Amino acid sequence: MSGYFDNAATTVMSQSALQTYVETARSYPANPSSSHSEGRRAAALLSQSRERVASLLKTESEHITFTAGATEANDIILSSLLWRPQSGQVVFSGIEHSSILQWNQLLAHLGWTVTTVAAPSGFIDPQQLAAALTAKTRLVSVMLVNNTVGTIQDIGAIRSAVRRFESESGQPPIHIHSDATQALGKIDVDLAHLGVDSASFSAHKFHGPRGVGILYNTKASTQSLSRGGGQERGLRAGTENLPAIAAMVTALEEAIEALEENRRTVTALNTLLRFRLRELPIITPEEQSSPYILTIAIPSLPSEVGERMLSDRGFSVSAGSACSHNVRQKGAMVHNAMRLDSRLAESSLRISLSPDNTTEECEALAEAILTIHRNHR
Ligand code: PMP
Repeated sequence: MSGYFDNAATTVMSQSALQTYVETARSYPANPSSSHSEGRRAAALLSQSRERVASLLKTESEHITFTAGATEANDIILSSLLWRPQSGQVVFSGIEHSSILQWNQLLAHLGWTVTTVAAPSGFIDPQQLAAALTAKTRLVSVMLVNNTVGTIQDIGAIRSAVRRFESESGQPPIHIHSDATQALGKIDVDLAHLGVDSASFSAHKFHGPRGVGILYNTKASTQSLSRGGGQERGLRAGTENLPAIAAMVTALEEAIEALEENRRTVTALNTLLRFRLRELPIITPEEQSSPYILTIAIPSLPSEVGERMLSDRGFSVSAGSACSHNVRQKGAMVHNAMRLDSRLAESSLRISLSPDNTTEECEALAEAILTIHRNHR
């Protein structure tokens, strides 16, 4: 028995998304910017795809930008800061994905103050975040679902705290961004309720293709650093990847339609794993966490060794959060911000689920983990 348990790193593309990809690549050969009839057909499909995404996310199509994934969506929002005449301050949660946290270098180099807010046990305290705001704060970025341990932030409370600071101090509006990559298609993402100015998403986390994603953005003043042919209203220049965009729409439709059913399936698997692994430290809090992510520790083994031993037995899990190359360094930053005991952090393993995982696979994974644990105690 083997099993793929690294769905937070990437998911398998769904059959229908793959079919849409192939059909679109075959039937829409032209560039949507070309003015001949084939080009106009492609432009029409692009426009329909935008309308469909907007309606699935219950927003307006002018707020939707197609990108090359969540990294690029995050980059557009952060790079827009560099157009400002003066540097200011940005506030990040300390557990952001590296596509946000890594901006600290360039921003600091250009004279910005970067403040990261700790997230004990994986949760940001809105009051603590509010205490970090100053007259120079221009942007706050807090992710919705953390990719390392799966905790869900109360973005509504964070937004209220930021807006309260603005009104009490008479500051101009602070841009609130949320990386919702691990949330879309898995938990409810209600943009109106979140009330953020922008959010990022990536298709390959919800069984769509890689290299395509969505930026939701309500701020007309946003300007990207990327220059080119003016596609995506100048925010994301470069010929649009129409087959991938169309396939993403198919995957998103499927994910949203099956959201509740999938959540039930995955919650049952998560509960089973929690029960079977109850003799091990379980890092993901039981409350306010995505059922799709379960991070545990095998205390006697470094993460990489645990990951390798499970891989040798046919199970793909991730040492910490392996959506980046420098896993160790990146994981350490996030684990620090969570105030996680270093011994636990260094032996943590992330199990990330999909509705395609089976009970039998989860039983076998739990058995393999317990055997490894008992052999190395
Ligand atoms: N943000 C989060 C929370 C993620 O989990 C990921 C994927 N590892 C990204 C951003 C980056 O997404 P992509 O690889 O599609 O650019």
